[in-house]
Amino acid sequence: MSYILALDQGTTSSRAILFDDKGQIAGVRQKEFTQYFPQSGWVEHDPEEIWNTQFEVFRTLVAELQIPLIEIKAIGITNQRETTVVWDAETGIPVYNAIVWQDKRTTGFCEELKKNGREKLVKTRTGLVIDSYFSGTKAHWILENVEGARDKASKGQLRFGTIDTWLIWKMTGGECHITDYTNASRTMMFNIRSKQWDGDLLEMLGVPESMLPSVAPSSHHFGDFDYQGNKIPIMGIAGDQQAALFGQACLGPGEAKNTYGTGCFMLMNTGDECRDSENGLLTTMACSIDEDPVYALEGSIFIAGAAIQWLRDALKVIDHAGDSEYFAKKVDSSEVYLVPAFAGLGAPYWDQFSRGAIFGLTRDTGKNHIIKAALESIAFQTRDVLAAMEEDSGISISRLNVDGGATSNDYLMQFQSDILGVEVDRPQITESTALGAAFLAGLKAGVWTLEDIKQVRKTQQLFKPVLTSERRESLYKTWKKAVERTLNWSKTE
Ligand code: ADP
Repeated sequence: MSYILALDQGTTSSRAILFDDKGQIAGVRQKEFTQYFPQSGWVEHDPEEIWNTQFEVFRTLVAELQIPLIEIKAIGITNQRETTVVWDAETGIPVYNAIVWQDKRTTGFCEELKKNGREKLVKTRTGLVIDSYFSGTKAHWILENVEGARDKASKGQLRFGTIDTWLIWKMTGGECHITDYTNASRTMMFNIRSKQWDGDLLEMLGVPESMLPSVAPSSHHFGDFDYQGNKIPIMGIAGDQQAALFGQACLGPGEAKNTYGTGCFMLMNTGDECRDSENGLLTTMACSIDEDPVYALEGSIFIAGAAIQWLRDALKVIDHAGDSEYFAKKVDSSEVYLVPAFAGLGAPYWDQFSRGAIFGLTRDTGKNHIIKAALESIAFQTRDVLAAMEEDSGISISRLNVDGGATSNDYLMQFQSDILGVEVDRPQITESTALGAAFLAGLKAGVWTLEDIKQVRKTQQLFKPVLTSERRESLYKTWKKAVERTLNWSKTE
């Protein structure tokens, strides 16, 4: 037998997932780790704990399944993106905790960079907007605030890495300091056109190039994990969202996936075209299997499944997220609209002052209408982002591949298809992120070809649009009207 092992290093847990050579899951182990919140807006992880939990799930998985190590042909890594670790090159000891993508401590520095007119530079080189989310300002913070760090960095004694890089460093005993294009493209230091670290941006952030890893395509022989006398090659790396795009077999331009979790993450493959967005999307690097870059447009929705949590936890109109389907199906009219702008609106509106609202209430509006409207808001927001993608890329899609917790809701999936007017394809294996990392590694190891990958991803259910286009456009027009009325809501005059 041949197996491929995916290490899925997420924000709250480390997982190991073993795939057989048919792409079926042979086993999964998962372990949570500690979240540190040292101050309001700060989020940290202990890099050693990340490594220990990741190693532990790997060790128990192979031990408990009694898989001969020789049958594991390659390892693929997928990771929480942007989270930043800086460590001492000599000792391998981190100089500070990992600063997590959610951490807002560098917001002030980001504002300063914007005030100094750096937005255009950052956008054209990296495809990103200046934001505390990305790794660059986090690395800057560590160099500025950890005693002795700046000095050591200037002497070439420190190493920077996103979580993939940190794990590989640990797995290879400090031999390999490397990342892939997808992770590099989220650092705000990497020029996505020249595929090199960008001197101007490094100067802007005060990060010496000696700290930075080498960068390779996502399907590549990155190094070997020496475990119990076996050298298992590490042959795939990708940041979680790009791994999911690959795991959904969105391999060509115009193929897109949307992940429906707490928020939504949508990515569209734009092939070798590096498109600047004019609609508030990010341009980023997708997984590539050789030196030829592949690009993607990315848009996120802050509140998606979280609107269903709100129905459950704040309104208490449902007991479980899954119940929303039953109640939504009891209503057949669609006059109620809910805009879940609980924390402002992201792409394509980018209005931090927008707030949530429910429209169209009448004397006979009941809880079911509101539940239905909450589900539909997820689909409407997805159409907003997809429309922005289509406009930026000049490509219209015919199918959307979906994954994430809320895709188990058939009502939502059917409504999504109806409101987009495209097919919505829910796969059998919804572990797209891990599957993507496994695909990348399996390709390099020669276990699979690109054709095999397309076969491995199988449709579990295809939702086809049944609404007339007049009805679709009329519903969407009313949604836009509802959004319009929430904009600027909380801004004080
Ligand atoms: P995350 O990775 O962001 O934690 P998951 O992919 O685990 O998210 O999905 C969980 C989210 O999906 C929650 O916000 C939950 O409210 C929502 N959700 C789960 N099941 C359903 C369902 N059947 N219908 C609607 N929403 C759901």
